Order: sequence, then structure tokens, then C-alpha cells
Amino acid sequence: SLAHDHLSGRDLAPNDLDAFWMPFTANRAFKKNPRMIAGAKDMHYVTPEGRKILDGVAGLWCCNAGHGRKPIVEAIQKQAAELDYSPAFQFGHPKAFQLASRIAALAPADLDHVFFANSGSEAVDTALKIALAYWNVKGQGQKTRLIGRERGYHGVGFGGISVGGIVSNRKFFGSLLAGVDHLPHTYNRAEQAFSRGEPEWGAHLADELERIVTLHDASTVAAVIVEPMAGSTGVLPPPKGYLKRLREICDKHGILLIFDEVISGFGRLGYAFAAERYGVVPDMITFAKAVNSGTVPMGGVIARKGIYDAFMNGPDSVIELFHGYTYSGHPLAAAAGLATLDLYREEQLFERARALEPKWIDAMMSLKGLPNVLDIRAIGLVGAIDLASKPDAVGKRAFEAMDLGFRDHDLMIRITGETIAVTPPLIISEEQIGELVDKLGKIIKAVA
Ligand code: PLP
Repeated sequence: SLAHDHLSGRDLAPNDLDAFWMPFTANRAFKKNPRMIAGAKDMHYVTPEGRKILDGVAGLWCCNAGHGRKPIVEAIQKQAAELDYSPAFQFGHPKAFQLASRIAALAPADLDHVFFANSGSEAVDTALKIALAYWNVKGQGQKTRLIGRERGYHGVGFGGISVGGIVSNRKFFGSLLAGVDHLPHTYNRAEQAFSRGEPEWGAHLADELERIVTLHDASTVAAVIVEPMAGSTGVLPPPKGYLKRLREICDKHGILLIFDEVISGFGRLGYAFAAERYGVVPDMITFAKAVNSGTVPMGGVIARKGIYDAFMNGPDSVIELFHGYTYSGHPLAAAAGLATLDLYREEQLFERARALEPKWIDAMMSLKGLPNVLDIRAIGLVGAIDLASKPDAVGKRAFEAMDLGFRDHDLMIRITGETIAVTPPLIISEEQIGELVDKLGKIIKAVA
């Protein structure tokens, strides 16, 4: 039968789930009772049985234009037929340059140069390496320390987990990078619970950077990296004034500031980048996910002119930065990116997210008072609900909510610890926001 490969003797039946070691997944629970997706269109996923699931999370915070959008699909198809791959080193293809120009034009101020990678993790490691190399070419190679933040998520590369602040991502991996320190996270439930958008309380926590810099001396510190809005550890919007304060302290001490905008980039907070929303210009921005609406793996770093220029000395034919990936600026990803940015502009999706934000926040906050709801945070088109844990089973209630949401309520949500996160595609209608929140309410009651 088709399900049996006679050469290898392997059973290829689609219900054999054994070989795939799934990422960030409870493998045994999944394989016992899979949540399988077979198709997607606009705001919905489709299961193999044909059940439509409302996508409450834009896949994994990435499909901001929704699913199966014709112009993006056709751009990828056309590109595959025209130029499938060309070498990323010492050769170029037009679309990578076009996309870099378009991204640079979207980024604020003199964030003018784009280095392509293939994921958020690679984007982060690239930004950290550029920071270290930058100080070297400036003749200040002793500036090697990197400062991240507790509850930060910067992907899973060794650089990213070193500056990241998630214990489970760090504890098995030895001493990681030397010379890394962490700012405190900015969440305090007693002070901030049920804040709409940016909390009033917490800007003073940026001053901890001053303390850390004093401890290590500014002459040893290369860069600070933060997510403008911490996404993966439960949606923590920055306290009002916090990011500006970080910028001031970095300026005062000659430290590079990196915004990890892998989630917040491309409209999630109603602007092309969070840097624009907050009126703060970082020295580098990392991006991925929604750059091409999650269709083809792509990430990258946008660097300020001064950083790029610092490398452009020495003989013309010598490679300036010894870094890059086989698939940097891959033709399919670049073509998808150009079509996606066109779609964002034509459908004004960033503006749409901005306009929907007050209604979205109202809708999320309407869940206040349901059983076990300890806090709700909402900003841009992002929302999070903290649930009280079941006795001795941290994370179980949220896990059940995710599982039950998929099976019984046709809704996809994302969970982290005991927090539910929702981040729908930016094409969501007001009616669908109502539907999403209605489903969430039912799910929360069902796991009470
Ligand atoms: N940085 C941030 C802020 C993220 O949210 C993520 C993923 O969610 C990453 C980096 C890692 O991206 P990737 O999974 O594409 O490596």
C-alpha cells in the first residue's frame, strides 16, 4: 500500500507520529491525542476532518495578513519557478535588495541597513554578534558584556538564551555566554493588574540599568537587548516611559540598545515597529515572523547607519563581517516579504490594528471576573489572561484551556505557564473579535 515504504520497510501511515520530535511540545500528550492542522484560509485553520478553527494567535504570532492570501501565495509560486535559490555569499538577487530597502524605509530614523537571517533566533544571535564586532572595529574590543532582561525571550540560539530570561530555556545549557547580566522584568500584579495598554507603574525599573552598568563599568558593556513588549512570557507591555529611560541610560554610557521586535514588528502594536509607537530609536531592531506573514522562514536585523558605516573601512574586496547564512535573503522568503508588505500597505493593516485596539482591549477586559482570572493584559492586537493554577499542577489549567479550546470550541490559543495569549491576524473583523472573546469565556468556565 501507499502507506508502506517497501525499500525501508517503514510504515508511512500518516498516523505514525513517532519519528518527529516536536519542538516546544509535550510530545507524549500530543501523540496520544494530536491536534492536527491540515489547511488554512484567512482567519481559520482547517483540521484533517474539515473542522474550521478560528486562529486566535496568527499561527505563532506571525501570520499577520491571515492565511492563504492570494498575492503572497502567487508571489511564492512565481518565485519558485523563476529563481529557486541563488548563493547568498558574494552574489545577489534583486528581491533581497528590494525587500531590504522596503524594510529600511519602514523602520524609523537612520535604521537603514538590513542583515537577513532565517528566524528570530538567528536574528538575535546576529544582532548580538554585530554589537560585539561593532565595538571591535571601533577599537573598543573590551566592550563585550550583554544585558538582557528577566522574562525576556530571544529565541533558542546560545546567544539568545544567554540574554533571555526564561529559566527552563537556560538551565540545561551550562554557563552559556560569559559576561551577561539581566535587568529585572517589569511585571508586578499588585501594581499593574488589569492595566489597559502600557501600565502606569514600573518606569523606574529602567534605572536598574544604571546600577548594572555601574557594577560592570560602562567600558565593558556592549549592548542591552529587550523586547519592547515581552511576548512569550505572557505579554508584558512596557511601563509608560520605561523604554525612553533605557534609551537615555544607553546614550549616557555609550551602550547599544537592541529592540527584539520579532513579535512586535509589522503591525502587532499598530505600527510598523514598536520603536515607532514609543518614539524611541534603538541601534538595532531584530525582526522575523510577520515580515512575510509567516509564509517562508525569514528573520533579520535592521542596523543604524553608524553601525553599518563603522564596518565599511579597509580594502574594498575584504569581507567586512564574517557572518551569514546559506539562506540569508532566500528568494522565496524575499518574494513573499515583498508581496506581504504590499498587502499590509494596500489593506492598511497596521492602521487597522491601531484603530481596533480600544475595542480589542474592551473585549479582552470583559473577561474580568470569570473564574480563576487573576489578570488580563491587552495592547495593540495582543491579549493575555493569567489563570490561577490548580493545586500542585502549575500550567495544567492553561494546558487544558488550549486543548479544550481546539477540540470543543474551534479556537486556537497559545499558552505559556498559566497564561493564555491571543494575537489574531490583523485582518480580524469586529464580529470575529466578539466570537473569539466569547469562545475564550466559555473555555475559561470549562476549565474552572
Ligand atoms: N525573539 C522574540 C521576541 C520572539 O518572540 C521569538 C519567538 O517567538 C524569537 C526571538 C525566536 O524566533 P524563532 O522561533 O523564529 O527563532
